[in-house]
Amino acid sequence: MLNAIIALVAIGAVLGVLLGLAQLYLVVEEDNRVTEVIAMLPGANCGGCGFPGCQGFANALVDGEATQVSLCGVCNQETREAIVKYLNETPGPNSETLKVTL
Ligand code: SF4
Repeated sequence: MLNAIIALVAIGAVLGVLLGLAQLYLVVEEDNRVTEVIAMLPGANCGGCGFPGCQGFANALVDGEATQVSLCGVCNQETREAIVKYLNETPGPNSETLKVTL
């Protein structure tokens, strides 16, 4: 019985250390610009931009896969300009800004 308890405690300790190391080395840094751009987009999720919904388009803009905000035909000009200004002036986790156009 004591051996089983010791084995379980040892396994728990080893797994705890492995989880701690995984948190240090496998963490994916989130880019808050995606959330901000999603909030600016109309939210129609029509797919007209060629991406899977507004979240897909926001991800594409922030990842550099898309560079033209006008791909969203639902946005009005004011919103497009706000998104361009935001992305061109707001640095990401790597401290670099994007180059997107209308
Ligand atoms: S075209 Fe605009 S509204 Fe439609 S899914 Fe793309 S970003 Fe969203």
